[in-house]
Amino acid sequence: MITDLHSHSTHSDGALSPAALAQRAHRNGVALWAMTDHDQLGGLAEAASAAGDLGLAFVPGVEISVSFAGETVHILGLGIDPADPDLVNGLSRTRAGRIERAREMADGLARVGIQGAFDGAMAHAGQPESVSRTHFARWLVERGICSDTNSVFRRYLTEGKPGFVTHRWASLGDALRWIRGAGGKAAIAHPARYRLTPNEEFALFTEFVGHGGVAVEVVSASHTERDQARVAALAREFGLRASGGSDFHAPGESRWDLGAGPPLPEDLPALWPTLWPNGCISTPT
Ligand code: AMP
Ligand code: MN
Ligand code: MN
Ligand code: MN
Repeated sequence: MITDLHSHSTHSDGALSPAALAQRAHRNGVALWAMTDHDQLGGLAEAASAAGDLGLAFVPGVEISVSFAGETVHILGLGIDPADPDLVNGLSRTRAGRIERAREMADGLARVGIQGAFDGAMAHAGQPESVSRTHFARWLVERGICSDTNSVFRRYLTEGKPGFVTHRWASLGDALRWIRGAGGKAAIAHPARYRLTPNEEFALFTEFVGHGGVAVEVVSASHTERDQARVAALAREFGLRASGGSDFHAPGESRWDLGAGPPLPEDLPALWPTLWPNGCISTPT
């Protein structure tokens, strides 16, 4: 039983349309699939309809950017109602700063001699207001300035590097309120990626649970095996369900394809059975 509860389309920083993602997930043997664009619900109707045509069970999702302890933390909202007004408005406010941030990022790159990055990144962004560091990375690769997007992030787009701009995203409390208000379940995405001190990480998990969060992404392309074991221990400690996903963005760019990656640890309760469409299947075949 292959599930994949984390993926991106052209509505945020993925390279495939929602319909193309649905086809790829289906072809890869995924039985339950979630699309989770950054701060964006715009592709969910197309994804749901394409998945429906294929007989692929679909979970509408979103990955919300949150500022916590000076770090950007991603919170997945799964099984949300894409029409919920508070969620729609909250995400629209969260996205609002992206274009201005992109101008500042381009200014930073211009200062080290890289001209034209704003227009370059915008040309890669399917939706102007979803312009992200990934679009800058793809443009810099296209220009031959770096050979792959990972190197671009290391050299130009992470904290302290010329194209990095500090940004204030949603609060943890707001993100959880929007997700729960829209009928969804919240999961902390790829926790091993954050540069938090042990105290800050403890605070993140404690506050997340306090706000009604129920799951954590244990299996992620961002995690090493050691990370996965550590996050599984956090899930046990905080009584969270385990989630997992490829975080697929683009062929040839993402570490895992849709549906790839190991199964969830068997001793942890999984999030996905609580999301299965109509909630009617507890023992899938
Ligand atoms: P943004 O929301 O504009 O800050 O962009 C964040 C996105 O950049 C993430 O969702 C990833 O898709 C991508 N990203 C972040 N760090 C890296 C990295 N080190 N290598 C490749 N992609 C990254
Ligand atoms: Mn991304
Ligand atoms: Mn993420
Ligand atoms: Mn993601």
